[in-house]
Amino acid sequence: MSSEAQKKRHDGQSKLTEKQWAACIDYFDSSCCYCGKSGKLTKDHLQPLKQKGELEIANVVPACASCNSSKKDNQWLSWFQKQEFYTKDKAKLIQKWITFSLSIKELFEEEPSESEMVISKEVTKQIAPDTTAAIFWLKNRKPNEWRDKKETELSGSVDVNARSQEIKDRIKGRLKDG
Ligand SMILES: [Zn+2]
Repeated sequence: MSSEAQKKRHDGQSKLTEKQWAACIDYFDSSCCYCGKSGKLTKDHLQPLKQKGELEIANVVPACASCNSSKKDNQWLSWFQKQEFYTKDKAKLIQKWITFSLSIKELFEEEPSESEMVISKEVTKQIAPDTTAAIFWLKNRKPNEWRDKKETELSGSVDVNARSQEIKDRIKGRLKDG
């Protein structure tokens, strides 16, 4: 096992990987998410690490060194609003990143192994339309990095039907007895 794989296994999927960071930079068009400057970008934590923020995809945005050090441990929005380069649109984009990054998190996860494929619970996923659009945008922009993950249909309808029939029968039986 490579040291990278070992690290990954050790940290689990919650920590920021190189690919996630690349996606993050791409989302913000390779520029500082606050002032818009391009160039060397640092990993800025929306919620500062000192305040239990994590080095995790939804908590990380690209910022130039100047914004990053100016922001320090301040709450990002209140700091941002005081800057002359503040715009509502940029703040919105950052807010969207938080939800968007969480929705794409699973795209980075490795294929589950055979034994982990046995899933019997019903899963309902709700993804906002603009998030889906953004995923396609990323896929189209960097088709090699954004592989299509086959969505496995996890339908619990058979079990649910059988279960509700079972409950119905039980109620019927009880009514008869009473
Ligand atoms: Zn900046």
